[in-house]
Amino acid sequence: MPRPIHARIERAALQHNYRLAKRLAPQAQAWAVVKANAYGHGIAFAAEALGGEADGFALLDLAEAVALREAGIRQPILLLEGFFTDDDLELVLTHDLTPVIHRADQLATLARRLQARADPQAPAQAVYLKVNTGMNRLGLDPAELPALLAQIAAQPCFAPATLMTHFAEADGGRGIDWQLARWQALQQQLLGVPAVGKGPCSLANSAALLRYPATHADWVRPGIMLYGGSPFAETSAAALGLRPVMSLCSEIIGVQTVPAGERVGYAGLFVAERPTRVGIVACGYADGYPRHAPGGTPLLVDGQRSTTLGRVSMDMLACDLTHLPAAGIGSPVTLWGEGLPADAVASAAGTISYELFCALARRVPVRVV
Ligand SMILES: *Cc1c(COP(=O)(O)O)cnc(C)c1O
Repeated sequence: MPRPIHARIERAALQHNYRLAKRLAPQAQAWAVVKANAYGHGIAFAAEALGGEADGFALLDLAEAVALREAGIRQPILLLEGFFTDDDLELVLTHDLTPVIHRADQLATLARRLQARADPQAPAQAVYLKVNTGMNRLGLDPAELPALLAQIAAQPCFAPATLMTHFAEADGGRGIDWQLARWQALQQQLLGVPAVGKGPCSLANSAALLRYPATHADWVRPGIMLYGGSPFAETSAAALGLRPVMSLCSEIIGVQTVPAGERVGYAGLFVAERPTRVGIVACGYADGYPRHAPGGTPLLVDGQRSTTLGRVSMDMLACDLTHLPAAGIGSPVTLWGEGLPADAVASAAGTISYELFCALARRVPVRVV
């Protein structure tokens, strides 16, 4: 008998969320962002659930891109960090992947490789050029763009480049206007460059897609919203019309009734102030539950709200059953998901739902429904 923990992953919820993204950005095509093993939900699951309808898939691990092709995905696949070595380029060409070029030397490397290609019938290579408009992480200086675009336009082995940028604070108070101003200045500059037409553009992550329709452009790049997480601290996923895709489910495997004054768990972080019925849940940090979630983090027992008590262990955590007399051994527990937004758990633990999803441990069996 395996431990009674599993992640329930719902195909229809992912499809619902993707369709919502499409409805909200009706003029744009939408990359389904499936990096990090589809935010912990499984790349094969994402391919299976969205293969029939996604306009394209965006990720950064070459092995995951190949896995998508092997799963039969024929749509465009965008490599968000481009390629890392010359060997990667073989796979980029073989599997018809679209690299994001974020350094000028990557374009030169790619151009050399394309020119050396024996096959004159090969289709033109699609590329994205990532412009740094203020994230200051990856991306080309806007001043580099005219020359790079001219290079691309001069070489028939390239399809017209798509320009992209990434917002640093679309979910927060500073917003996007300051980045958009830099982006628009670049567009103006490019209009004045001969032989460089305005190609397609891609700007919006989930937060921008939801909050700033003016950024939808040609391709949006929703990630977290596909999995039913809200990108906004102050707006719930449900209020955005999103459905949770992953539910982390376990059971009560032990019950202790402790008198006032007793402590529970490592370091005795929970001290009972009154007689307390403590439920022990088969879920710990080795399953991906955050160890830094403090006592008081919400969970569901038998569908009813309760809270964690004390410190999260490797394989177990404790919760309060005092107000749930009918709950006991075998009662189902939801750590997050259906009925309890991952965002609520993440917020209690000082993180974001992205991290909870991505941290789901390999040892947790997945049930796709
Ligand atoms: C991860 C990522 C996204 C998706 O971001 P969400 O906040 O999950 O919607 C979009 N664009 C790029 C470049 C990314 O790296």
